[in-house]
Amino acid sequence: MGEEVKSQAKPHVLVLPFPIQGHINPLLQFSKRLISKNVAVTLLTTSSTHTTILRRASSSLSGRASLPLAFVPLDDGFEEGAPTGATAEYLAMFKNKVSLSLSDLISSMDPKPAAVVYDSCLPWALDVARRFGVAGASFFTQSSVVNALYHHFIEGRFREFQDEVVLPAMPVLKGGDLPVFLYDRSICPPLHDLICSQFCNVDEAQFFLVNSFEELEVEILEWMENVWPVKNIGPTVPSMYLDKRLGDEKDYGLSLFNPKVDECLTWLDTKPPDSVVYVSFGSLAVLKDDQMNELASGLKQTGHFFLWVVRETESSKLSSSYLEEISEKGLIVTWSPQLQVLAHKSVGCFVTHCGWNSTLEALSLGVPMVGMPQYSDQPTNAKFIEDVWKVGVRAKADKEGFVTKDEVVRCVGELMEGEKSRDVRRNAEKWRESAKEAVSEGGSSDRNIDEFVAKLWQMK
Ligand code: UDP
Repeated sequence: MGEEVKSQAKPHVLVLPFPIQGHINPLLQFSKRLISKNVAVTLLTTSSTHTTILRRASSSLSGRASLPLAFVPLDDGFEEGAPTGATAEYLAMFKNKVSLSLSDLISSMDPKPAAVVYDSCLPWALDVARRFGVAGASFFTQSSVVNALYHHFIEGRFREFQDEVVLPAMPVLKGGDLPVFLYDRSICPPLHDLICSQFCNVDEAQFFLVNSFEELEVEILEWMENVWPVKNIGPTVPSMYLDKRLGDEKDYGLSLFNPKVDECLTWLDTKPPDSVVYVSFGSLAVLKDDQMNELASGLKQTGHFFLWVVRETESSKLSSSYLEEISEKGLIVTWSPQLQVLAHKSVGCFVTHCGWNSTLEALSLGVPMVGMPQYSDQPTNAKFIEDVWKVGVRAKADKEGFVTKDEVVRCVGELMEGEKSRDVRRNAEKWRESAKEAVSEGGSSDRNIDEFVAKLWQMK
């Protein structure tokens, strides 16, 4: 561990994300907020991601004396390039190895850290921390509504395959609006179990932190306060896009992928304002071949410029003839600097899988969304994007989840030129302001972070 971190008298926290992009980003950004409030942070990586993380940690992280963030790898049983598949065997091995390694680390520390902030998907980290008398803060990377749904499901208030659920402090939800693993466990039993495990010992955690903000989920928050001492600390979007208190960080600063920054920004610079459709399905979603082709045709048919992230592992699904056909209108990259893209004035809407980070990023940057949810909590996010926050439209899918090209054209048209576009843009602007206020000095999330930091000082 960095000498700098050890010698400081401020409270020290260990931050443990599940090592996938959508979980690293919010925990890393939260770490930056803590550091800015005089807390020392060690970010725990894993042996399989550590080298990539250090290689890719951009200057916004490692190069600035103002951001002393130490990285310590925990052994997950793999060298560089571990399998990322969510098999039961992998998750069990991850738990065994990483909890042992975490235990060794804490045991070697003197003084002990004030707290372990752990990804809620890794509830066993709390057991390790408690063994050493160290406080645990469970950090939820999904919305409060989704947390509430998991809670109700675990409590038996609805079952799998239910057509409709009526629960307190949220709209009536159809089966297709529910987190996928709650609607049908068979889709991926290990993930279903992982997700439900988030709540197994949360009552013993000292802190319940959620990457959301009060104004966005006010009703559910009021309800939830009777169940857990929830503190919203988000959105964990780099501050340059919100309150600007952490300097000019353009991105999270730590990518497992290789963003094509110049290629995207140079291309966007040549396009008129609000003329580009940005398309990304995040770091994990795998589209079926026929869906990929249909989306490809749909994007072409919209007639708009489009910037589409097709990860390397997905790229063989697009034909070379398609790439030639769209070369005038489209740019396809294997990974984008998503925040810089969303913030670019030429981007008019975002076709998204509605991952929670992507949703919060678009809300924070005021970009209207076309929701094409794929799995996990994404259908619920898509429902809220369209019907509650009214910042986008959701593409209608058939029973198999397939979205036709005509539907892609309809949805993009609605946001780029349709009647709905003006209202959606107005709402998007409103949420952008609200997100900014939440993290600005004295805002709802800022106050919660201050409170957390004050408790860390007391526990130190
Ligand atoms: N992202 C990015 N470039 C891309 C696609 C995604 O930087 O080309 C980032 C995005 O900004 C977000 C994260 O990757 O912070 C994806 O998280 P999300 O929760 O949206 O989806 P997941 O990958 O977990 O499904």
